[in-house]
Amino acid sequence: MTLEFEIINRYFKKNTNVPLGIGDDAALINKNKREFWAISQDTLNNDTHFSSDTPPVELGWKALAVNVSDIYAMGGKPNYALLSISLNQHNEKWLKGFSQGLHACAKKYGVEIIGGDTTRGATSISITIIGSVFKKNVLKRDAAKVEDDIWVTGKIGLAAIGLDCVKKKIAMKEGLKKTFIEYLNKPQPSNIYSLQAKKLFHSAIDISDGLIADLSHILKSSGVSAEIFSNQLPVHPWTKKNEAYHYALYGGDDYQLILTAAQKNRSQIELLAKQEKIKLTCIGKITNGKKLKVFDTHGIPLKNLNKGFLHFDK
Ligand code: ADP
Ligand code: MG
Repeated sequence: MTLEFEIINRYFKKNTNVPLGIGDDAALINKNKREFWAISQDTLNNDTHFSSDTPPVELGWKALAVNVSDIYAMGGKPNYALLSISLNQHNEKWLKGFSQGLHACAKKYGVEIIGGDTTRGATSISITIIGSVFKKNVLKRDAAKVEDDIWVTGKIGLAAIGLDCVKKKIAMKEGLKKTFIEYLNKPQPSNIYSLQAKKLFHSAIDISDGLIADLSHILKSSGVSAEIFSNQLPVHPWTKKNEAYHYALYGGDDYQLILTAAQKNRSQIELLAKQEKIKLTCIGKITNGKKLKVFDTHGIPLKNLNKGFLHFDK
């Protein structure tokens, strides 16, 4: 267990009376007979989650998008958000850009900004999101079943390549670099709400810390294991050409979903995904094995599985 989760479990986790508290992508509280409110909060800090060079318009987008992603991961629909923002100076241009990006994202995902807090301090943006989810449609991390297919939405690993471009750790043509950095700064969560997901899927999580790290949460909560096939991962052609699959396995910031579903639903999932124009790719299966296995593109199991992004890594 990483220190981040040790801190949460040791200091903040207490028994509550809510239907679902700490431990999933969002907490659930009763809304009415048929629905829950799904509530979650994500923070972006300067130098940890973005740099002073990140365009404010993209930061505004990202601050909300990373929260929308957690509501989709519960099978829910985002409704409202509260914005807590800490700024070290009043910068008109920055605020204009940031708010433009924020409102563009709110419009795209149908979210209303209903409150928040504005303070002076190191730049930090924290958003609390409130969504609604039908009780029969809730997707949790603890319901993956042996033999389930493992699916991911969209493409993965692109944001992590973008981050290495920003940090000048890798070099490539300007156009390509721009594409990857856009994935990093402007994540586009996939709206699976229209798929009536619970009829098709057993469990879900969104990818914030990397495919392997986030899949591991599903495996741990569900008491199962998995096999992942690198050659099935939905990656950018650059990743294939450079055999840089580690970006897709361990890179964070994708804000796509990992879902598991019974194999018998495969053709229906493919059909619905096509109808709803959602990219869904089967990348492996849930097993009753002891250890998560990841096969490289030659079918050989990887030896040392990295754990993805860790806050408080020592
Ligand atoms: P996610 O990546 O989906 O945003 P996290 O990994 O950040 O989720 O958090 C895991 C779980 O722990 C979530 O249910 C979250 O609400 C909860 N959590 C995180 N930090 C705290 C905290 N300081 N106090 C209480 N609960 C927390
Ligand atoms: Mg999440």
